[in-house]
Amino acid sequence: MPELRKDMVRDNWVVIVADNALKPGEFPINRNCVSSHFDGSDCPFCEGHESRTTPEIAAIRLPGSTADAPGWLVRTVPNKFAAFNLEGELRHFREGLFECFNGLGHHEVVIETPWHYQEIQQRDTKHIGQFFRLLRQRYQELRRDDRIKYIQIYKNRGLFAGASQQHSHSQILAYSIVPEQCTAIGRYFDEHRRCLICDIIKAELAHRVRIVAETDHFLIICPYASRFCYEAWIVPKTHTEHFDGISDAEIGDLAVLSKAYIGTMMDTLDQPAYNISINTAPVNSVEDRGYHWFMEISPRLMVQNAVEIGTGFYMNPVAPERAAQILGQTMREGRKGASHD
Ligand SMILES: [Zn+2]
Ligand SMILES: [Zn+2]
Repeated sequence: MPELRKDMVRDNWVVIVADNALKPGEFPINRNCVSSHFDGSDCPFCEGHESRTTPEIAAIRLPGSTADAPGWLVRTVPNKFAAFNLEGELRHFREGLFECFNGLGHHEVVIETPWHYQEIQQRDTKHIGQFFRLLRQRYQELRRDDRIKYIQIYKNRGLFAGASQQHSHSQILAYSIVPEQCTAIGRYFDEHRRCLICDIIKAELAHRVRIVAETDHFLIICPYASRFCYEAWIVPKTHTEHFDGISDAEIGDLAVLSKAYIGTMMDTLDQPAYNISINTAPVNSVEDRGYHWFMEISPRLMVQNAVEIGTGFYMNPVAPERAAQILGQTMREGRKGASHD
């Protein structure tokens, strides 16, 4: 039965078209999703090409190496084509009916690996942990600027997910206003005096129909109102408002879990383009109570169509219960295989 499901995290609706999953491999987009107009020789993100990027902000480096030179494992630089810059104060303009803000904010690129063809799930877990630690550090540093109200950490992998560079990277965008669709979790807290994400964790653990995997610190679920086919969230079980509240123990767990999960997703869905976005609390605001950070991983197997453009409703032809079953089973088999090695 088709259903119109409430997406409580965004206060929106998702149309779950049918509960029979399109089989992996039956989607309109499932191959050729890595942009091909760059190869390693022309890539500004490869080790040895440091002079082609803007000067680095921070890096995890091998002993003895120096900034903007080889010898790094993860490196973050200002986005050359930044959507925002952090100069002056936020200003609001009106021109009759029309209004706008100046583009106050900050935009940087986190280069995840020195090697052109290495993807995040192919790195060792120690290296992935270093990547998460650098993200935590940058979140902590950026939130000290009280002009910044929301920090989004995200990743576009592949052409159909919006990536313009093939080399594995993430981005950090710091905004001077809080995006409207990131405020529904706060409104839930105002109404119920409880955290929506903690309530979702409780409900999912009680029903166990949308759980992909569970570890000491995290739960992977396919959310009830998944906007994308095979969308999954990695949710910390401990209530933590901001991403920089992640502990070292959680980073260790997340490195192992995200490597296993992204590997599973890539194998199951035939190397799809995908987006990752970390949903977290607004910063420099008293209104961060009731928020609870989590990571959204959304394969891009369909092209957005007129329904999303015209209404904001998403159409998803794969029920999340089915997606969780397929991904969970593949992940357990993968882990069993790995433990025999
Ligand atoms: Zn490269
Ligand atoms: Zn919570």
